[in-house]
Amino acid sequence: MPMLEQQIIIVTGAASGLGRAAAIRCATDGARLSLVDVNRAGLDDVKAEVIASCAKADVLTVEADVSSEDQVRAYVEQTVARFGGVDGFFNNAGIEDRQATTQDVDGAFFDRIMAVNARGVLFGMKHVLKVMATQGHGRIVNTASALGIRGAGRQAGYTASKHAIVGLTRNAALEYGALGIGINAIAPGAILTPLVESSLRQVDPHDWQAAASTFVAHNPMRRLGTPDEVASVVAFLLSADAAFVNGAVIPIDGGQSAQY
Ligand code: NAD
Repeated sequence: MPMLEQQIIIVTGAASGLGRAAAIRCATDGARLSLVDVNRAGLDDVKAEVIASCAKADVLTVEADVSSEDQVRAYVEQTVARFGGVDGFFNNAGIEDRQATTQDVDGAFFDRIMAVNARGVLFGMKHVLKVMATQGHGRIVNTASALGIRGAGRQAGYTASKHAIVGLTRNAALEYGALGIGINAIAPGAILTPLVESSLRQVDPHDWQAAASTFVAHNPMRRLGTPDEVASVVAFLLSADAAFVNGAVIPIDGGQSAQY
């Protein structure tokens, strides 16, 4: 039987990058999907891609900003109204930082990145966990980052927000394990998505691929990761095969975080 057969899975940040790849992978593994993003056109494109790769996929799309608790409550309610519950939650939407040293951090942007990356993950867990606690089962994967467990410099807001996600993950895992709910985080290194390309363009506006080459020279595997290499780990963590994995923070970074 496919790993996620008939599982009801919410993916936030589903219109691009890691969320898009996870949506396609989970549908291929048999899941029914609720895809959430601020980008309506991107959601429509990804829904079409999911159905192209998996004709019988059952897909709901919900336009929502994860930094708004009302919109988070609404995407959870719409998912339950359509499918009757939530078995898995890939709590993934996030935004990148502006490259700046700490003395140049912009307060308004710091608040925004915390609102999307950290509060968005917290509100997502808050409303999904109400459903999962009633069901007595569920699995959550929060997207942290290598910058949730290490530092790199020039990314104060992003690093703070991703460390917050690690803390929120460990805290909730302790609260809900006894209810049969597993809550983990992934800590991807540099995975080639629009977000990373945009960050590399900030590092070298003239040649982002040169910036990428410099970056990967320090990676044990000497390359960027691919979204599919993250999606396969996410699908595993959302599945019953990972039933006793709880409160873990899983690096997906070619070994980069092992050497800092
Ligand atoms: P991406 O930019 O390709 O995709 C992010 C998606 O999130 C977009 O579709 C965007 O519209 C959506 N989004 C942004 N703000 C939102 C909001 N307020 N409400 C709802 N949706 C919103 O980026 P990605 O690389 O796929 O990143 C996905 C997650 O992975 C992020 O949390 C990011 O921090 C994290 N991450 C990425 C990498 C990497 O190397 N790509 C590494 C570590 C962590």
